[in-house]
Amino acid sequence: MNPEIMTMADYTHLTLTQDHNQLLWLDLHVEGKSANVLSVDVLNEIDRACDDIRASGAKGLVIHSSKPSGFVAGADISHFRKVTDEHQALEFIRKGQAIFQKYEDLPMPTLVIIHGFCLGGGLEWALACDYRIASNEASTKIGLPEVKLGIHPGFGGSVRSIRLLGVLPAMNLILSGRAVNGYQAKKMGLVDENLPQRSLRNAAVAMLTSRPEKHRPPWYAPVLEQSLLRPAIASLLRRQVAKKANKDHYPAPYAQIDVWEKTGSQDPQMFEAEAESVARLIVGETAQNLVRVFFLQERLKGLGDKSLFQPHHVHVIGAGVMGGDIAAWCAMQGMEVTLQDMSDEALARAVGRAASHFRKRYKRDRFALQQAIDRLTPDREGLAVKKADLIIEAVFESLEVKQDIFKGLETEASSEAILATNTSSIPLDEIAAAMQQPDRLVGLHFFNPVIKMPLVEVVFDDQLTSEEVRAKAAAATRHLNKLPLPVKSAPGFLVNRILMPYLMEAMQCYQEGIPAVVIDKAATDYGMPMGPLALADTVGLDICQHVGQILADKLGLALPAEVDRMVEKGWLGKKSGQGFYIYRKGKAVPREKPDWQGDRQQLQQRLIGKIREEAERCLTEHIVEDGDLLDAGLIFGTGYAPFRGGLKLDSV
Ligand code: NAD
Repeated sequence: MNPEIMTMADYTHLTLTQDHNQLLWLDLHVEGKSANVLSVDVLNEIDRACDDIRASGAKGLVIHSSKPSGFVAGADISHFRKVTDEHQALEFIRKGQAIFQKYEDLPMPTLVIIHGFCLGGGLEWALACDYRIASNEASTKIGLPEVKLGIHPGFGGSVRSIRLLGVLPAMNLILSGRAVNGYQAKKMGLVDENLPQRSLRNAAVAMLTSRPEKHRPPWYAPVLEQSLLRPAIASLLRRQVAKKANKDHYPAPYAQIDVWEKTGSQDPQMFEAEAESVARLIVGETAQNLVRVFFLQERLKGLGDKSLFQPHHVHVIGAGVMGGDIAAWCAMQGMEVTLQDMSDEALARAVGRAASHFRKRYKRDRFALQQAIDRLTPDREGLAVKKADLIIEAVFESLEVKQDIFKGLETEASSEAILATNTSSIPLDEIAAAMQQPDRLVGLHFFNPVIKMPLVEVVFDDQLTSEEVRAKAAAATRHLNKLPLPVKSAPGFLVNRILMPYLMEAMQCYQEGIPAVVIDKAATDYGMPMGPLALADTVGLDICQHVGQILADKLGLALPAEVDRMVEKGWLGKKSGQGFYIYRKGKAVPREKPDWQGDRQQLQQRLIGKIREEAERCLTEHIVEDGDLLDAGLIFGTGYAPFRGGLKLDSV
């Protein structure tokens, strides 16, 4: 198939070849990048290629990518940082729009083959073509994730997706920023075919030769776009968005709705409105902060060099809340996992919970589900320790028990294996005191819930942990698809240390008589994902008390007496049905009326001020290397308001 007969020369990032069917094949393979991203350079080439394509007189055009990572991962985000002027931004966006318009205006039929990523600008390009066909592989991800960066599609993507799908399905994609797979994309009409990768080229030729009718939205789609109905639909969409995002914090989805409401997608003026809106957003604070968060994430990814170490067999000791979920997560990442616990009951519970995680993730993909189940083996006696290359201990928070375990591991495990503890409060040197080779011990501090939290603190002791072990532990974290944050072994490490004084302050406010809902609202209004008291209830008040006591001693804080009283009464938070809130069928019901006459702004400052104070101390003590890493820990470890981009403290 596709024997090339002519290659048009003179491109760096793409190849243009013509086959015997007189079809042109544009293969995008951006130089020097593992994934195709649309930089200014690349867009210029795509533009130039369009002129050559038009001049060629070919019978059809297939756009695809030979890169294994997929078609296009999106725009080059580093460019966003350089744009500081709205005018300059508008010029750039108009240019992008004009290039894709040229593709839409080509006289021959055009088709895009989608395999792997087809996101943002990549999908906008594909939408300007006549047909799209996608592979049914799990790696295929199609979407418009711009809102996650504080903007919305700007290269004609919002206009064309609404024209193609109708306003509600298109807005559902844009406003959530979610990506769909080939099957879902076919179902909604975003692609015309969903096929195995090996059939895509043949299908492309067949489609361009037979030219079937292009996809059209349902008959009622134009009705919903009429000027009389648009305001009602726009307000419905605004209400839906408001459930997830505060307009002051995340303006992009609201701006997208405004853009559509003004003219509807059939009016070509929507292109200009789209461009102007994105230009405004891109230089705004939210977008710049979200772009910063994107790069913080990239920085964390870069801290683990995957080539240094690849775990194949993970052995987890302790099948409780953490160990069980760590084991399940590792199995989902394709690793062989053995799970050890002295309690049969704990093992059975952990395996049951793992199965439910697998079902949630793999849904109807029975093969993937079975594979994950097969990868996780209970190992009551710990016989598999010898074979493991990564061992993660997650037993009770007891120094003696942990010391015993590591003493044993040193002799039983392979000399190459990484020995890691998930302790949240015991300093590494205390555990390592029982070891012959204390330099082998490292902390891999996962957060609860393991499946959701992206961060892992890679804890090291300055004087003890070897450089090689630190680097391998960070590499392992990347193989586990988590973000490694190197932190010094000091009480609470980074995330809990910053979180605890804030939680304690909230508890102190409660003790002073401020209603729990008022306290929590002050925090969520600031942009925290959850109020501190609701968070304490979720973590468990007994655990808060335990960690709080350890940190209180070491950091000179005082745990409010109210917490002791609550724990004594058996109010342990969500798990016991009572805490700062009462839980009915899993839902938090406030104990007090939200009547409070105090200054809510001041309350907010009092709470968030605690985060800042402790963060400053952490920097002074070099718990993490610099202010950016501190922000990364805060955002990915606590969910700290991403639209604020972190505390942006200067390193000392
Ligand atoms: P847990 O009480 O739910 O589970 C501990 C498990 O360890 C139990 O199933 C127990 O049977 C098992 N166990 C105890 N001694 C053992 C031994 N010698 N050999 C084998 N199994 C043994 O505890 P958890 O909440 O999962 O916490 C585990 C570790 O993770 C602790 O160090 C804790 O500080 C840390 N951690 C907890 C959280 C959290 O939110 N729960 C978060 C981060 C880290």
